Amino acid sequence: MIEKDIAVALRIAPFSETSRVVTWMSRSRGRIATLAKGSQRPKSAFLGQYDLFYSCEILYHARPGHDLHILRECSPLDQRARFRSDWKAMGVASYFADAVLRTCLPETPHAEVFDLLGSALDAAASGRKLETCLVSFELRLLQALGHSPRLATCLKCSKPIRGETSARPGAPRFSAFSLERGGMLCDDCATAAESAERLSHDIVGLLQFWLGADSMESALLARCSPAQWKSAAAVTGLFLQRHLELPPAGRNAALDLLGR
Ligand SMILES: [Zn+2]
Repeated sequence: MIEKDIAVALRIAPFSETSRVVTWMSRSRGRIATLAKGSQRPKSAFLGQYDLFYSCEILYHARPGHDLHILRECSPLDQRARFRSDWKAMGVASYFADAVLRTCLPETPHAEVFDLLGSALDAAASGRKLETCLVSFELRLLQALGHSPRLATCLKCSKPIRGETSARPGAPRFSAFSLERGGMLCDDCATAAESAERLSHDIVGLLQFWLGADSMESALLARCSPAQWKSAAAVTGLFLQRHLELPPAGRNAALDLLGR
C-alpha cells in the first residue's frame, strides 16, 4: 500500500553502504522508519531530498506488520538551513528529535506532537532565544503527552495559584511545587511532611506563560533573566525526568552547547 504523508526526519542511520534508514515523525502515522534504498548512490533520486530536521513530503510503500517501510519518493518542504551552520541551534534540534523518539511509540499517530516538533524546530531554526525555546518545548511536550504540570491551581483544593510575570520588589513569595504529584500546592495545603520544591511566584508565572502561550513564537516573547531561566529550566528538567522518564543525557548535551 502506497502512503503519502508529511514528515520530519528525526534520525538517519546506515543500512548498507548505499542505503539508509530514515526515521520520521509523520503527521498521519506518528513515528515511522523507512528504508531509502540506494540513497547514497551518485545518481540516486534521493540525493539532497532529505536530511536531519527537514520537513518533507514522503511517498512510501507501507508494509503491514513490518517496522521498516520502503521510501519511494521524498521532496523537502522546509530544510531549516540554519541547522547546517549553527551548532547551538543544531544541538537544540537534536534534543527535540531525541525527546520525540524516546517518548512517542512507533506507528502511533500523534498530531499534537507532530505540530509541536515542527513549530519548535522552526523556532530553533530562527536562532533566537534558544534557551527559552528549549524549556518551552519541554513544557509543551509534557502537555501534549498528558503530563502537563498543574500550575494554575492547587492540586488539593483547586485554589488559584497566581504567578507573577516579573519579579516584584521586596522579598519574593514562594509556593510549594510537588514533583511527585505533578503541580502546585497552596500555602494551606502544603504540609511539611510532603516533599516539594519551593518555587518563587515569578518562576511560576514564567512557567504558566510558556505553557499557556498559543504558539512557540508567542512563548518566546516571555522576558526572563538568566537566573529566572535557570530556575525554570531546573524544575522543568526534574519534572521531565520524573514524568516522562527521559534520560538527562540529551538535554545536558544541548545545555552544554548553549553554555548552560
Ligand atoms: Zn490548596
